[in-house]
Amino acid sequence: MTPASQSETTQQGPRGPLAVVIVGAGFAGIGAAAELRRRGITNFTILERADEVGGVWRDNTYPGCQCDVPSSLYSFSFLPKHDWSDRFATQPEIQQYLRDAVRHLDLESRIEFGRDVSQVQWDVEAQLWTVSIAGGESLRARMVIVGSGTLNEPSIPKFDGLADFSGELFHSANWPADFDPSGKRIAVIGTGASAVQFVPKIAEAALSVTVFQRTAPWVLPRGDRSVPRWQQQLNGRVPAAMSVTRGVDFLRRELLTNSFVRSGRMLSLIERTGRRHINSQIADPSLRALVTPEFRAGCKRLLMSDTWYPTLTRPNVTLTTTPISHFTSTSVVTRHDPGGSADRDTTVGPIEVDVIVLATGFRVQRRSILSVIVGTDGDSMAAAMFKTAPTAYLGSTLPGFPNLVLMTGPNTGLANNSMLLMIEAQARYAADMASYLDRNPDAALDVRSAVMESFTSELEERLGHSVWADGGCASWYQDAHGRVTALWPGTTTEFRRRTREISLADYRVLSRPQ
Ligand code: NAP
Repeated sequence: MTPASQSETTQQGPRGPLAVVIVGAGFAGIGAAAELRRRGITNFTILERADEVGGVWRDNTYPGCQCDVPSSLYSFSFLPKHDWSDRFATQPEIQQYLRDAVRHLDLESRIEFGRDVSQVQWDVEAQLWTVSIAGGESLRARMVIVGSGTLNEPSIPKFDGLADFSGELFHSANWPADFDPSGKRIAVIGTGASAVQFVPKIAEAALSVTVFQRTAPWVLPRGDRSVPRWQQQLNGRVPAAMSVTRGVDFLRRELLTNSFVRSGRMLSLIERTGRRHINSQIADPSLRALVTPEFRAGCKRLLMSDTWYPTLTRPNVTLTTTPISHFTSTSVVTRHDPGGSADRDTTVGPIEVDVIVLATGFRVQRRSILSVIVGTDGDSMAAAMFKTAPTAYLGSTLPGFPNLVLMTGPNTGLANNSMLLMIEAQARYAADMASYLDRNPDAALDVRSAVMESFTSELEERLGHSVWADGGCASWYQDAHGRVTALWPGTTTEFRRRTREISLADYRVLSRPQ
């Protein structure tokens, strides 16, 4: 649609009704669109607030950004990529894959860029969603698929004085394209999946890097390697070769699930591997102690890096576990913490820096899109979801929000496998709902409260003794009460089976008021 025709429709009132509006053009939105197409549903549009596809893989451009799931598992099963350059795909290559996917699936004309969704409201009379876009336009649709992502709202801790800092300050997900670490004194707050990837890169050029670690993560050997040209060609010519690699990578990850859910013996093996990794890469006993985790492996996301520990031994890199007190215009001020680990760590006091990088993760539990989706009784999805624990039936649907599927919703995250497997399963589920609505023009599907309550109890029971709940850590996998609300408790195979189709027994069929 051209800008001219968009403004025309503004003057004429809401556009539509469309069969489906998809919010977001990352893997989730594109995967859902592909599945709609496959089922012959073509009356849909994708609203994307940025000017590019890619979601998190567009936003995270920090040096060294790379997937920590093998690339064999990082393309859609219906559009395999055979020529990944590395065993773990890099961010630019993943984003290019998504651009290519959009072209290949002929979705280019379906994506409307620069369209920031400001409200999604159910119209009880018309049984339609009204999707409002910042700037004034609105669309009507029978169904909405929310694919706007989970790890896309940076979490900025409320440190005293942070706003007064006069040097460069940014979050890892908002990496300035022209940032040059050369000769700079850099503070990095956080030691999660993002930090372990970019700190080794910036440390090569920076004058100094001070890493502020609150909790030491488990870091395992990565074993990355580039994929030789001959192997890429073989994968292209003999698709079975790639399928075998994908199958082996898939099974290895799938089989790990039980260990996390039951805190099984495999975790001790992982911990031994983690300790060996520390001991083989760090000679200094006091640094070894600082980086040795004090919780069970898997409780937080397992990290993989062959360069993290060697980087911490560089003369221009300091790891400090002394808690941050506040910031001044030029420094990070730490505080002595008698109850903490300050006695093992000599860095106390102001540390003068030129740059602060916040590698402090994302707001996962309360992403803002949930506040602007308003259902049948006028409540926002955030209000409905947070009455109890953040949950949705099969991570997808919520009572009072008919004809709406939340992609990568609560309890659909994975600790050990590719999210694309979950996204494809949810896309099929959403498209099955769209097909039903297509066949039944007067109906709407609203998941039964009892079905969701029983699903929520099942999750609590299955996750209650998982390492994510009992492993002795706090993480974004949990809500404020320590309940595991981000992760799926089973295998991806189970999730695929349970989301293969919409079971009408799970839903109330609403008919349009006469
Ligand atoms: P993260 O894993 O949530 O790590 C945030 C870090 O910041 C933690 O070390 C945390 O410490 C620290 N932190 C947060 N608030 C703090 C505060 N107030 N004071 C001091 N430290 C604080 O975030 P992330 O590294 O951006 O990764 C987020 C997720 O993105 C990952 O779990 C992963 O799912 C995904 N990711 C994936 C890849 C990939 O390879 N595919 C790469 C990057 C990210 P505590 O541990 O003490 O809370």
